[in-house]
Amino acid sequence: MKDVANCPKCGQIFVKALRPMCQHCYKEQETNFETVSKFMRRKQNRMASIREVHEKTDVPLEQIHQFVREGRLLVTHFPNLGYPCESCGSIIQEARLCASCTDNIKSGLEKIDKEKEFEQRKEEEKRKERASSVSTYQALNNRFEKK
Ligand SMILES: [Zn+2]
Ligand SMILES: [Zn+2]
Repeated sequence: MKDVANCPKCGQIFVKALRPMCQHCYKEQETNFETVSKFMRRKQNRMASIREVHEKTDVPLEQIHQFVREGRLLVTHFPNLGYPCESCGSIIQEARLCASCTDNIKSGLEKIDKEKEFEQRKEEEKRKERASSVSTYQALNNRFEKK
């Protein structure tokens, strides 16, 4: 039973040997791909947007996004195709996030770094304070013992 899994698309149990989904969904996906690529091969459709492709071919948007993401539909050939940014959903053509989300994450990480640095500095100061109060205490104590 080791190569048996649930199909990520329809949930049916299938043997995982050949492909990441069941035979039925695989066939459907390939039919979709045929439909879309046939549509895109027509010269006048080269500049079509995903929505237009979806409306004219009846292939689900998700599926078209997937083909673009996987590089099966090349954005170099079809400049208006793309897929949504995983964070904000705006249409992109490479990577997993759009430029502004990438920037946001980067500056977010920098902020976390700065906060950490600040916390560390605070800790450091507290430790110094504690150390100096201990030495004051010892100094007082010494004076007391000398008496
Ligand atoms: Zn399936
Ligand atoms: Zn984004």
